[in-house]
Amino acid sequence: MGCGTSKVLPEPPTDVQLDLVKKVEPYIGHQNDVYKHFIKEDAVKAGSPSPPRHTYPYSSGHPPNYAEQPEPRKNKVAKYRAKFDPRVTAKYDIKALIGRGSFSRVVRVEHKATKQPFAIKMIETKYREGREVCESELCVLRRVRHTNIIQLIEVFETQERVYMVMELATGGELFDRIIAKGSFTERDATRVLQMVLDGVKYLHTLGITHRDLKPENLLYYHPGTDSKIMITDFGLASARKKGDDCLMKTTCGTPEYIAPEILVRKPYTNSVDMWALGVISYILLSGTMPFEDDNRTRLYRQILKGKYSYSGEECPQIGPHSEYVQLLPCVLVAVSSGARIDASL
Ligand code: ADP
Ligand code: MG
Repeated sequence: MGCGTSKVLPEPPTDVQLDLVKKVEPYIGHQNDVYKHFIKEDAVKAGSPSPPRHTYPYSSGHPPNYAEQPEPRKNKVAKYRAKFDPRVTAKYDIKALIGRGSFSRVVRVEHKATKQPFAIKMIETKYREGREVCESELCVLRRVRHTNIIQLIEVFETQERVYMVMELATGGELFDRIIAKGSFTERDATRVLQMVLDGVKYLHTLGITHRDLKPENLLYYHPGTDSKIMITDFGLASARKKGDDCLMKTTCGTPEYIAPEILVRKPYTNSVDMWALGVISYILLSGTMPFEDDNRTRLYRQILKGKYSYSGEECPQIGPHSEYVQLLPCVLVAVSSGARIDASL
């Protein structure tokens, strides 16, 4: 799932798979496919999920009182407040830092006039990568409106930063709930996956591929157990015009969730999101990662071979007549895709 947030150049497998990579025909990528060869550096330990990267201020269900926050957090918020453009602070009160990534910081804010809470994602656009991530994200967020996708409210731009005001999800990341629960029952996993699938189906209909679906990017709208899930973080997304079925080529994603066709540098389709959903399904049900290794080469080899174990203690709820099996055709397409690659090794 994730401990780090930096993006690094991918290290392709160095054995037989690499030969396969070399054989892939050169491909002229789509113009929008700007985020070249970046992979999000994230990892998680099987059987012992990593602690969350950050403590989520709303995870207890009670928004923290800023005045009562310990000194270091106060200082942090003060630090981020100073980075905000006066146009933003004239309209919004900066309340707390709730997320951080390679090029971004996410803060909880309150609209001064209405007292309504929002999230602001501040992206540094000084460097090329930050600009590209920002472009991808805005390009998608400006086009979408769906109950399972975070809604963009407004945008402020300066020379060095972009501030995206978004709907605030107060229930924390799916990541945190998996950590808290260990694993989900089939019923709960099905509910989560159904909502994510609704959002992904909508995106795919618009020609948008998320390319970084993982539990850290799936947020609960509110802290209750009945909360809806919302897809966020479109920094690696690819957006094409409706009806434009161009293939994608950019190597990007988070290693543990990346589809084999991306690893072998094959032109790929939006089915890479389905692969990631397969991985998320596995995590939800077992609380562990299907493909996992500290060593990148070994991790990619596992993915390319579609080699994972789905039985035994790790995943006790899976049964032939289970409710979850109904979802297999959709979400575990991931597995068949792996088999296809496996066959060519
Ligand atoms: P990055 O590209 O840096 O991963 P994200 O958009 O995923 O950026 O944001 C980082 C984290 O900030 C998320 O994982 C989530 O915890 C928090 N976050 C982002 N957007 C929101 C939001 N609208 N409401 C609440 N929390 C958010
Ligand atoms: Mg993210």
